[in-house]
Amino acid sequence: MEKLAMLYEGKAKKVFETDDKSRLIVEYKDDATAFNGLKKGSILGKGIINNKMTNIVFKYLEENGVETHFVEELGDRQTLVKKVEIVPLEVIVRNIAAGSFSNKFGVEEGKELLNPVIEFSYKNDALGDPMINDMQILAIGLASKEELASVSKQALKINELLKDYFFKRGITLVDFKIEFGRYNGKVILADEISPDTCRLWDNKTNEKLDKDRFRRDLGGVEEAYEEVWRRITI
Ligand code: ADP
Ligand code: UDP
Repeated sequence: MEKLAMLYEGKAKKVFETDDKSRLIVEYKDDATAFNGLKKGSILGKGIINNKMTNIVFKYLEENGVETHFVEELGDRQTLVKKVEIVPLEVIVRNIAAGSFSNKFGVEEGKELLNPVIEFSYKNDALGDPMINDMQILAIGLASKEELASVSKQALKINELLKDYFFKRGITLVDFKIEFGRYNGKVILADEISPDTCRLWDNKTNEKLDKDRFRRDLGGVEEAYEEVWRRITI
């Protein structure tokens, strides 16, 4: 597989074309941003952990009936994926109140929710990724009714599978963000699942093992990513 021109450089990854029109190479960087790019920094070794963790998690989901973009890990930071047309939505699933949910609704961080919550944000940096509901998504035409139903169903299934996966490794899955893309007439899981995109708490101490350590200047950022990696690979 030959790596060709860079298609896109995002905040955390670069995306390259390949000599196969249906495949892309994603390259994970150590760059970290928060608050829509306002806070910038770098987390040493993050790109390697996020690449390898995403691939392990995507393989686990595939084994359990969730189709993903994963094709082949090419190196520490690079993975070959199916080229999809990204549905411009950040799909957020929550099990426990935290972050913007706690702030918006005045629900204490750490409170267990009575049911899992799906939220959507319109993936649009210029607009600051505003929250959007399903009727608004359909009204603008960001996704079809069928696609939205499929995304929601898959998101809840992924949540159940991931909750179980992390709990067995001593981690509580508080919330996470996923993205989907169109591929061969279906919407499949794309992008990444990592400590950048999930809130992961130690299930005994509630210690934060994710990007909130960077967002909130809690220190021990690299160590938290390494701890998640250690628990996944032992
Ligand atoms: P951002 O765009 O938010 O800064 P990244 O730095 O992670 O995010 O950039 C990766 C980009 O690649 C994202 O826009 C993501 O939606 C997109 N992407 C992820 N997986 C695929 C895929 N399989 N095919 C096409 N685009 C993808
Ligand atoms: N998230 C993400 N990318 C974003 C926004 C959120 O990966 O652009 C993840 C975040 O890591 C958390 C979940 O989505 O696991 C919910 O985030 P929230 O809405 O609470 O936003 P935040 O508090 O990060 O602003």
